[in-house]
Amino acid sequence: MSEAFEQENVNSKELNFLSQVSIGLTQNSEPQDIIQSLSNAFRSIIKLEDLNVYIYDENTQTLRDYTKSWIVIDEIHEKSYTDKLYQVVKTSKYDDFLINDNSINIKDFWDINKYISTRKNTILFPLMKGDMPYGIIELVINLTMSDILTIDFFKALIIAAYQISLKIQNKVLADKMQANIDFHESMKNIAKIIETQYDLSYIIPLIGEMIDKFISDHLIYIFLKQNDEYKLAWPSECRDSKIFDMVKNIKADSQYILAEDNKIGLFPLIAADSSILGVIVAHSHVDKLSQREIDYIDQLTKQSSITIQRANMYVEVLQHATLDALTGLNNRRQFEVRLKQEVAAAKRQKHKLCAIMLDIDFFKKVNDNYGHAVGDEVLKNVAEIIKTSLRESDIPSRYGGEEFAILLPYTKLEEAATVAQRLRSNVEAKHVDLTEVKDAKIKEIQVTISVGVYEYKDGDEPQQLYTKADKALYYAKEHGRNKVIINRG
Ligand code: GH3
Ligand code: MG
Ligand code: MG
Repeated sequence: MSEAFEQENVNSKELNFLSQVSIGLTQNSEPQDIIQSLSNAFRSIIKLEDLNVYIYDENTQTLRDYTKSWIVIDEIHEKSYTDKLYQVVKTSKYDDFLINDNSINIKDFWDINKYISTRKNTILFPLMKGDMPYGIIELVINLTMSDILTIDFFKALIIAAYQISLKIQNKVLADKMQANIDFHESMKNIAKIIETQYDLSYIIPLIGEMIDKFISDHLIYIFLKQNDEYKLAWPSECRDSKIFDMVKNIKADSQYILAEDNKIGLFPLIAADSSILGVIVAHSHVDKLSQREIDYIDQLTKQSSITIQRANMYVEVLQHATLDALTGLNNRRQFEVRLKQEVAAAKRQKHKLCAIMLDIDFFKKVNDNYGHAVGDEVLKNVAEIIKTSLRESDIPSRYGGEEFAILLPYTKLEEAATVAQRLRSNVEAKHVDLTEVKDAKIKEIQVTISVGVYEYKDGDEPQQLYTKADKALYYAKEHGRNKVIINRG
């Protein structure tokens, strides 16, 4: 296309320039590439020394380099010059521009050359959104004595600026949409963490990183309240003692707190009962938090509060748990508690007490050959057989992986041996149905158990009741498995 224009007519230079601008804008999407292609287009028409685009960020009320949005122009230019840039972006009207300090409107084009010097010239051209300027194209060009800038050049420049403006607006819009998508993704992820993890030392860094992703200009800190003190939980250090002071003074108030002209945001993590779990801090020395960022962090903080509470609750429930999650039998801790109680009661009341230890035979092979899901199903079935084979007063527990312990109060050794035999034969006879087990290679499986039995003797420590039954179990394993062995010692 550009060649066609070149061959044709009078103003080929300007048209070729515009065509190059169009192509550059359609073919590129990264700011860096866009500026590069525009620079090339400008070089085809003028002696370009430098080309920059600055975008006004309403949130922070600063002009920023388009290609490096973290750079605020105040940091790279002298104040007198930045004042000028801010003036252009705040006051320009359509077709206004600035040449070397002189405000010009395109209508005054015949005057243009009188403002131009040989060598370096700076042209500032506003990027307009409707009739509002929102950015600046800065052209630094070198001119020799013989160069003049024509009205056609400026007309072409206006059209180019319009195209550039549209492209950048689209890009900003697309970025905003992407940020929105990312935000919702993060909300979902924070909510989901708990499904797999409830360890706060794992959860907190994930939350920190997710929030950090949006709030690029601010440092994010997460503090958790422990025994009335706020401890930094993420990242590993915070060197700003001011932050610690601010966090310390936070009150039980569900609202976030903005300080230092929105450069610091404190977002309390509030539990359902209105107590404070901790606080998420966003901090910058330079940048203000935009309303959008504030809303993002606020939402993410609320979601995080829920996740942290659920994690805390989970840990608490686990601490107080007496039952094994897989089988529904007492867990090992509960077994130890009941063992002491039952031994104490047997001693005091002088009644009989027996212990049965049982262990599934060759269980490792079940896992190895058919997978853990099949192993779990076997465990559930064995537990079910144990439950249904016992009396109400008996106390079955899952002692370890595939090991079960049963306390039988008011039970003599012979009775306990009968129970043990019944358990052994019930397990042996059971065809464990695997049709509901995902990816099971077989439809059913049978297993056997080895069992040890011991009766409490006066003077036994609680632990001995267990070790002596276990010794019998060990003997059963040694002597062929699928057996009940009684320890009379
Ligand atoms: P033995 O007849 O001597 O008892 O042999 P074994 O293979 O049954 O005994 P071993 O102690 O070598 O293996 C026990 C296996 O139980 C190893 C472990 O992976 C498995 N296991 C422990 N807990 C669970 C569980 O919750 N689910 C499943 N599927 N397997 C478990
Ligand atoms: Mg075993
Ligand atoms: Mg075992």
